[in-house]
Amino acid sequence: MKAAVYYGPRDVRVETVPMPTAGPGEVVLRVLRCSVCGTDKRIFAHGHKNVVPPTVTGHEIVGTVYEVGAGVDAAIAIGRKVMVATVVGCGKCIHCQRKQYNLCDSFTALGYDCAGGFAEYVKIPAAAVAQGKIILVPPAMALERAALVEPLSCCLSGQEYLNAQPGDRAFVFGAGPIGLMHAAILKARGCDPVIVTDVSDERFAGIPKDDPVLPIDTNSIHYNEIAVFACFASNLQHFHQALEMISRDGMWDRFVTHRL
Ligand SMILES: [Zn+2]
Ligand SMILES: [Zn+2]
Repeated sequence: MKAAVYYGPRDVRVETVPMPTAGPGEVVLRVLRCSVCGTDKRIFAHGHKNVVPPTVTGHEIVGTVYEVGAGVDAAIAIGRKVMVATVVGCGKCIHCQRKQYNLCDSFTALGYDCAGGFAEYVKIPAAAVAQGKIILVPPAMALERAALVEPLSCCLSGQEYLNAQPGDRAFVFGAGPIGLMHAAILKARGCDPVIVTDVSDERFAGIPKDDPVLPIDTNSIHYNEIAVFACFASNLQHFHQALEMISRDGMWDRFVTHRL
């Protein structure tokens, strides 16, 4: 099969590589769409500690079931249209027991620790299958729309903490796809106004990974009762929520900006 193999920063080569096969509990998908995440861009530009070359990145995957290993749930039938949740927990720690796999200290992720979706086929590990990370997509849903579910699920995960209320004034830093998805959710929640800002054509890239310490005015936080929190990735309930939102509103199609 053909795959975009990542050899290191700014070195991705389209090559012919062996087809994956499904062992017990595993599933092989034929990839039909895989969107490019901001993290994919960062890995391409700078590398990532969990991405050991040569490997295949890409985690916003939509495809059809191509091969099913022994012991997999019958609902994951050959030919079925599916998408995949990225993060796989250890299954044992307190966070995994609460199904907060994204907070697991030893989680792995598709497209990071194991080969991802920038290829014709991708193998979903047994642990991911067992944790319900293969999600059935309504057969009528457009593939490109389904490929937006993963990033929207991450926004919904953050908005769960934020809990914006009707009438709240919302300000979103960064007008990339994630910022605009946040703005759309805030509008849907009744925030008014929703203001989106951006600082450059290249877009604000967030807090730099290699220098995460920022000076913060604690007086301003205290006297204005500002809540500061961060959120990483998403969990299964956010995927199902995102899938439901995307399936009933054609507006989301506007988030697809480029096709390769
Ligand atoms: Zn992503
Ligand atoms: Zn865990």
